[in-house]
Amino acid sequence: MSLLVIGSVAYDSVKTPFGVADDILGGSATYFSVSASYFTDVSLVAVVGEDFRKEDIEVFNNRNINIEGLEKRKGKTFRWKGEYGFDLNEAHTLDTQLNVFADFNPKLPEKYRDCEYVFLANIDPDLQREVLSQIKKPKLIACDTMNFWIERKFDSLKKTFEKVDIVIINEGELRELAGEPNLVKAAQKVLSWGPKRLIAKRGEYGALMFSDSTVFSAPAFPLESVFDPTGAGDSFAGGFMGYISNANNTDESAVRQAIIFGSAMASFNVEDFSLNRLKNLSYKEIEERFKEFKSLTHFDDLI
Ligand code: AMP
Repeated sequence: MSLLVIGSVAYDSVKTPFGVADDILGGSATYFSVSASYFTDVSLVAVVGEDFRKEDIEVFNNRNINIEGLEKRKGKTFRWKGEYGFDLNEAHTLDTQLNVFADFNPKLPEKYRDCEYVFLANIDPDLQREVLSQIKKPKLIACDTMNFWIERKFDSLKKTFEKVDIVIINEGELRELAGEPNLVKAAQKVLSWGPKRLIAKRGEYGALMFSDSTVFSAPAFPLESVFDPTGAGDSFAGGFMGYISNANNTDESAVRQAIIFGSAMASFNVEDFSLNRLKNLSYKEIEERFKEFKSLTHFDDLI
């Protein structure tokens, strides 16, 4: 089944305790699509400026990502500048420049409209719904967001949430969104707006998935070298949605496996800056990490 994503394609400037990198390829839709491309066909909707480099287009082409819906416009590509302290769990945004995204008016290529699996990655919630309204018969819709949009476009964001099946969001942003410090209560509040499941991404503490009757907990992979956490959330979502879309199955067992694939993709992504690690994986490496997760969390039942 084919999977559509709308989100940012960006140039990031990132500082971590281990190094600095300027104007490197990033963006929510970039990390998502490269990660998901290991599992399924991906169609990308986004906009870039005249400054977008040819070699960065090749990152999408090399992964066979459909970029018919990636517009090139007069102006500059979206820019994000962020910093991480020793606690790599939290990104501190220093600057956001929407640039060509400020007046982006996406019109989906005809063949994108049949996509059944849709991910509304972190971007203006008005754009998320504009894209959604052009899809004929979506089977499963998931979305993400961040504090930038929660603080500027809360009402619009709530309208997006009313239309989606799964919300995938950072734990800090979940607390801010719900105005509630307790994660369980915050998740239940957001579920009351419409989504059937909510996945709280918790950085090095893993992920928690809530529905109205179940909770599933997955650890993060214990890595010795975490270099740059940028894009971990989006590569998680890419592995998660990519697996579900390929399996064409949304039952509890498939969704739990998808969370482990998402966690595996996020663990690869943080091992290097930008998409350097993520873009050069083999499916075998991904499967091996899936199995390592299985043994990491296995324990025997009481007799
Ligand atoms: P994450 O997976 O949460 O680490 O997301 C990192 C990516 O989000 C970076 O590559 C940024 O380019 C992108 N980003 C940061 N701020 C925004 C924003 N306000 N809207 C859309 N994308 C953003």
